[in-house]
Amino acid sequence: MAVADRRTTAASRQRGLVISSHAMKNFTSRPVVLCLSGHDPSGGAGLQADIEALLAQACHAAPTVTALTVQDTVNVSDFRVLDREWVLAQANAVIADLPIAAVKLGMLGSVEMVETVLEIMARLPGVPLVCDPVLRAGGGGALGKEDVGYAMRERLFPVSTIATPNLPEARILAELPEGSADECAERLLPHIRHLLITGGHGDESEVHNRLYCRDGSRHDFTCARLPGSYHGSGCTLASALAGRLALGEELTSAVRSALDYTWRTLRDAEAPGHGQYVPRRLPLDLA
Ligand code: PLP
Repeated sequence: MAVADRRTTAASRQRGLVISSHAMKNFTSRPVVLCLSGHDPSGGAGLQADIEALLAQACHAAPTVTALTVQDTVNVSDFRVLDREWVLAQANAVIADLPIAAVKLGMLGSVEMVETVLEIMARLPGVPLVCDPVLRAGGGGALGKEDVGYAMRERLFPVSTIATPNLPEARILAELPEGSADECAERLLPHIRHLLITGGHGDESEVHNRLYCRDGSRHDFTCARLPGSYHGSGCTLASALAGRLALGEELTSAVRSALDYTWRTLRDAEAPGHGQYVPRRLPLDLA
C-alpha cells in the first residue's frame, strides 16, 4: 500500500471508518443505545457494565451520567445525583447527534431524575425503553431516596417497553413485602407492558426468570443457579436486552438472548476485589 493510502487509512480508522485496501466501504454504524445510569468506580456495575454489555451485543453505548457513587465490590457508602440540567444537557447533545435505537435506564436516584428521564423520552417517541429499577446495590446499600420506586412505577413504567426488577425490587415496587413473583406482576402489569422478574436472589437450585406481558402471555426461563453473588448482574441484563431490542430482535427472543448472555458473564465472573464477583462481559482476547 502506498504511503499516502496508509495515511488515509489511519485517519479514516480514527473517524471510525472501515477501509479495505481496494475500496472504501460505506460504514454502517452499530445501533446506538442511550444509557442513563450511575457511575460505579469499582467498574462492576453502572455505566461501565452498560458499555461492556452493549459492546458485546455489537451495539454502541452512549453513556449519560445520572449519578456518582462511592463504592467498592462490597457495598456502596455514598452517592450524589447530578443536577437535572447536567443530565438533560448530556442527553440532548447525544440525541441531536446520534440516531438512538434504544434507551436503557439504570440508577436514577431521585424523583427529580425520574422526571428528567420523562423529558428526555419525550424527544424519543417510539424508541424502546428498558427500565432497570435500581434501588439498592448488591451489598444492600441504598442507591436512591425512598420515594424513587413509587415514582418509577407511576411515571416511568407507563412509557417503558419493559422493566427488569429482581424479586426484591419487584416486591418494593409492588408494595408487597412478602409477595411472590406472580403476585407482584399482577400488581405491576397495569403500569407497564412487559415485566421481567428475575430470580437470582432466591435460594432454589434453579433460577426462575419470568416474563409477564400485559396481553396475558407469560414465558418462564430457567437456568442453573451459580454459586456466589454478583455486582452488576442487573445492569448487564438490562443493557444486553436494550442492545438486542436496538438490533431489532423481537421482545421474547431478546429477553432470552439477554438472559443467556448474562448467565455466561456470571459463569465466567472474576473476583477483582474483596466483595462480590464481577461479571466478565467481554472476551479476554480483544487485542
Ligand atoms: N447502578 C449503579 C451506579 C450501581 O452502583 C449499582 C450497584 O452497585 C447498580 C446500578 C445495580 O447493580 P446490580 O446490577 O448489581 O443490581
